[in-house]
Amino acid sequence: MTQCWGDEMTDIIIIGAGPAGMTAAIYARRAAKSVLVLEAMSCGGQIINTPDIENYPVAAHISGFDFATKVYEQAKALGAEFKFEKAVEILDGGSVKTVVTAKNRYEAKAVIIATGSQNRKLGVGDEDKLIGRGVSYCATCDGAFFRNKDVAVVGGGNTALEDALYMADIASKVYLIHRRGSFRGEEATVEKLRQRENVEFVLNSVVTGLNADKRLTGIDVTDSRGGVRTLEVSGLFVAVGRIPENRSFASVIDLDKAGYAAADENCRTKTAGVFVAGDNRAKEVRQLVTATADGAVAATEAIKYLNEQ
Ligand code: NAP
Repeated sequence: MTQCWGDEMTDIIIIGAGPAGMTAAIYARRAAKSVLVLEAMSCGGQIINTPDIENYPVAAHISGFDFATKVYEQAKALGAEFKFEKAVEILDGGSVKTVVTAKNRYEAKAVIIATGSQNRKLGVGDEDKLIGRGVSYCATCDGAFFRNKDVAVVGGGNTALEDALYMADIASKVYLIHRRGSFRGEEATVEKLRQRENVEFVLNSVVTGLNADKRLTGIDVTDSRGGVRTLEVSGLFVAVGRIPENRSFASVIDLDKAGYAAADENCRTKTAGVFVAGDNRAKEVRQLVTATADGAVAATEAIKYLNEQ
C-alpha cells in the first residue's frame, strides 16, 4: 500500500488536475487538509487548448495554458502534492477510500472526482487512422501545421467557434461545418467569425466521408437535403463535444444516460465522502468559471465532511 504524507493517511485525494481539481486543491490546502492530486495526462485539462480566454472575471485575455500554469503553481505553493497516475477505481471502505491507479493504491478520507471529459469523435471513415495525418482535435496544438492551407472545423459549440477563429489567422481558408442552422456557442464569437473573409459557414451539414492518400486530402459534406459537396482540405479539426470520464468510478457514483455524474448542488454524490467537480458532473453550464466554482464547492463540502468525522 503506497501512502503519501508520511505515515498519515491523506485527507483528500483529488482525481484530475484540471481547473476544477486544482481549485479544489487550493481550497483544501488553505483549510490545512493534506491533498494528493492524481492526474492521468498533464495538468490543466481541456482548457490548455483554449488560445484566449475572454470570459473569466478579471482576466480579460489569458491563454488556457497560462491560466492552467498559474492555478497549478498556486496549488503547488500551498502544498498540494501531484502525481501523474491514472486512477482506475475507487473502493469505498466507509471512512477510508482507496483510489487504485495502474501503479499504486492510495488511501484517503475523502475523494473528489474532477476528471473532466475526453474528445468525442465523429465516427466517420478512417478518422482514427488519420489522427496526426490531417485529423486533429486540438487547433492550438496542431494548427501551425496548416499554415496557408485550407482546413475545416466541425462543431457548433464554443470550442469549434474558437478553433475556427484561431485557424482563420493561420490557414488560407476555414470551413466551419455545423449540423444545425444556428450555433450553440457564444454569439460574440460567431460575430467575429462573420467578419473574417476567409471563413465560410457550412450549416445544416455533416461530414460523411474522409478522403485520404496517406494524409487527409478532402472531406465529403452532406447537407440536410442530401446534397453532397467535397471540400479539398488538408486539415480537419473535430470539435463536436466531449465525453465525461466517469465510467471507472460507477461503483461509487450514479451516472446519467450521457455518463455525467449525479451530484447535488454541493457536489455530493450518493457515496459519503465522494464528491464530483467540473465538466464530468451532471449540470447545465460547463464553463471555466463553473469548473473552478465546482472545485471550491466540492472542497468546501469535503472539508466539512472531514471535520464531522
Ligand atoms: P458543446 O458545447 O457540447 O458543442 C458540441 C457541438 O458539436 C454542438 O454544436 C453539437 O451540435 C455538435 N455535435 C455533437 N455531436 C456531433 C456529431 N456527432 N456530429 C456533428 N456535430 C456534433 O462542446 P464544446 O464546444 O467542446 O464545449 C464544451 C463546453 O465547454 C461547453 O459548455 C462550452 O461552452 C465550454 N467551452 C467554453 C469555452 C470558454 O468559456 N471560452 C471555450 C470552449 C468550450 P448541436 O449544437 O446540434 O448539439
